[in-house]
Amino acid sequence: MRYRSTRRADDPGQARFCDILLEGLAPDGGLYWPVSWPRLDRSDLAELRRVLAQRGYAGLAQRVLGLFCDDIPAADLERICQRAYTTEKFGGPDIVPVSALDGQLRLAHLSNGPTAAFKDLAMQLLAELFEYELTRRDRRLTILGATSGDTGSAAEQAMLGQSRVKVFMLSPQGRMTAFQRGQMYGLDDPGIVNLTVPGSFDDCQDLVKAVNADAELKADLDIGAVNSINWARLAAQVVYYVACWLKVSRSDDQPVSLAVPTGNFGNIVSGHIARRLGVPIDRLVLATNENDVLAEFFDSGVYRVRSSAQTVATSSPSMDISKASNFERFVFDLLDGDAQEVARLFGQVLPTSGQIDLSGRGAVARSRDDFGFWASRSTHADRLAAIAATWRDCGRLIDPHTADGVTAGRRLVGPEPMVCLETALPIKFADTMVEAVGFPAPVPDRFANVLTAPSHAIELTGGLDQLKCVLRRLAV
Ligand SMILES: *Cc1c(COP(=O)(O)O)cnc(C)c1O
Repeated sequence: MRYRSTRRADDPGQARFCDILLEGLAPDGGLYWPVSWPRLDRSDLAELRRVLAQRGYAGLAQRVLGLFCDDIPAADLERICQRAYTTEKFGGPDIVPVSALDGQLRLAHLSNGPTAAFKDLAMQLLAELFEYELTRRDRRLTILGATSGDTGSAAEQAMLGQSRVKVFMLSPQGRMTAFQRGQMYGLDDPGIVNLTVPGSFDDCQDLVKAVNADAELKADLDIGAVNSINWARLAAQVVYYVACWLKVSRSDDQPVSLAVPTGNFGNIVSGHIARRLGVPIDRLVLATNENDVLAEFFDSGVYRVRSSAQTVATSSPSMDISKASNFERFVFDLLDGDAQEVARLFGQVLPTSGQIDLSGRGAVARSRDDFGFWASRSTHADRLAAIAATWRDCGRLIDPHTADGVTAGRRLVGPEPMVCLETALPIKFADTMVEAVGFPAPVPDRFANVLTAPSHAIELTGGLDQLKCVLRRLAV
């Protein structure tokens, strides 16, 4: 498979998987996307079913990733997948178990990894891929990121002990739960530097952007990205969409729908990729909270981003996003790969007017008919009700983000099974759980030390200047 930028009309489309592995944006500001798509037919899907049965999740991962990556030898890729997806890291041999809720609803447990969020599934693989490729190129990498809670801890846990990578993670002071803080700041490792920023997630993100705009510093430190614009993260997530379909379908052509709690469009875009490959996915149900920029788009065809002041703090905080960094990839497909138009819309129209209007181009109907997208928004009250009902009726505790997905999935379920993706464990969001069911989710032994570990974080009160100093002093 070869990759091109979503914004460059004359892109020769020559980049390979490992060329873009360590990068974020394409040089023109676009996102990397496949030049052409392989198509899985019924016999390919039957073969994947055999692979999952015989070789487990890691075997399936090697097959699926092999579709996207032809510049790592199969035996190496297999070792990488086996190291990433172990029983030890994911609490059992299934890696992604699927259980029944009620009616047609199922719950896919994507949150059994080291930091109790779905982001572990991509990040564990990314860490192994980074170490492999950095060793091959004899390079080192400084990772600079911003987190609202879950990305940071997933990245830090995954990169822990990888000798060629050093992680600097900015997080908003006082905006994360005690569990999320403990998971990040509790790490005491020379390869991990936590920085707390007085302000919001957007302030953290702005600092990251400002450092990346300093070409000299960026080159000196070899700064790379682990946010969800990274193609390898999306590729890794495709594996669990395939696994969910395999586990729930009864035949090789039975369609299955999925409901996905969404913020940056990073998770659900992998569902879109799986569907494009020919996996029989019927509906992709996009769930938002009160920050409903994406639900509004699928209703109206207008993508109207909000400022950080207009982005409300909710009880599903990892979805408090009003500018979805992966959405451009979907729009590229919606516009049939018209890169010139994508460059105009995302490079000029959106930054100047704050919105993109695709309503005149049949965006609402095409999103549904051609790509299976449906959307629904929920509120704090909906989350509490979904958590309480799932506990009462199914005996399962779900976290507030998963509750957004269950709410949307329930509203939009058709005749096919609807797999709701669990994106975090409820142990991370104790206050909301108490509000919904009257008690916090019991914390498994493996997380017993999270809340008591001594805190290691640098307070970044001096803004960009201080950040640059810290990076120059501590980077590898
Ligand atoms: C990151 C995250 C999301 C949102 O995922 P996107 O890829 O940004 O759409 C939803 N729920 C949880 C718990 C998360 O950590």
